[in-house]
Order: sequence, then C-alpha cells, then structure tokens
Amino acid sequence: MKKRNASMTMLRLKDLSATKPRIQVLDILVQSNSPMSIDDIVKETKGKIAISSAYRVIADLMDVNIVNTFQSPDSKLLVELAQDDSSHHHHLYCTSCKKATDIELDASLEENINQLINKISKSNNITITDHSFELYGECDSKNHK
Ligand SMILES: [Zn+2]
Ligand SMILES: [Zn+2]
Repeated sequence: MKKRNASMTMLRLKDLSATKPRIQVLDILVQSNSPMSIDDIVKETKGKIAISSAYRVIADLMDVNIVNTFQSPDSKLLVELAQDDSSHHHHLYCTSCKKATDIELDASLEENINQLINKISKSNNITITDHSFELYGECDSKNHK
C-alpha cells in the first residue's frame, strides 16, 4: 500500500495522471531501488504490461523527469528513478547477471575528478561536457548460472 502511494505522489507532483501502467512501472522501480532494463520491468509485471506500453510509460515518465535512462556497457537501455539532488552518480555493473547498482563517490573524490577534467580540458583544448566512471564486478546473486 505504501509503495503505491509513493508512485501516485510522484505522478501527482508532476501533473501526470495516475494510470495503472504508470503506477505498476513506478512501483517496480521503487521496489528495485536500482536501475532496470525495460525487459526486466516487463518481466516483473508478470504479463500485466506489454513491452510497447512499457516503452510508452517510460517515455512519459522521462518527459517529466521522474525517471532517467542510460546505456549499460552491453548497450542495454536501463531505467532508474531520477534523483532530486541529481548532479550525477555512478554505477557498478555485475558482469555475470548484468545488474546495475548505484554508487556514490564521496564529494572530495568527485571534486578531484572535476579538477582533473578541467586540466585535461585546457591542455587538450576541448570542452569536456560529462564524464563516466563505472565499476565492474560480480555480485553474489542467484541469477548467476
Ligand atoms: Zn543510477
Ligand atoms: Zn550478478
């Protein structure tokens, strides 16, 4: 019950009508608390949502910044809830089950990276607009065969 309220509140805050598919998709993302592929989201709905409507829902949610999408290293589209304080964050990928997890770098490390980027930007005379820092490993998951 609590989860559904959270999803409804998110939709209301953005003036998006709380349709069933939107709530179902959001509930899954809230519960997972980590990035998910659209396939996994659809699987999680246990047949309640078709892949085409899942794409539509994600597009609607992206329009109002409730979710972000990004590409995983194996070029899958991953969806995650947008974070309010969103400057940016980083991801840890499991190379076996492809699960992505959010990680936070501490502020001083992030600051050091930015200084390094400024330096590189100047010495190469190129405007660096973004950076990505990803970690790869193997999680301790039953998903692994
Ligand atoms: Zn993330
Ligand atoms: Zn894994």
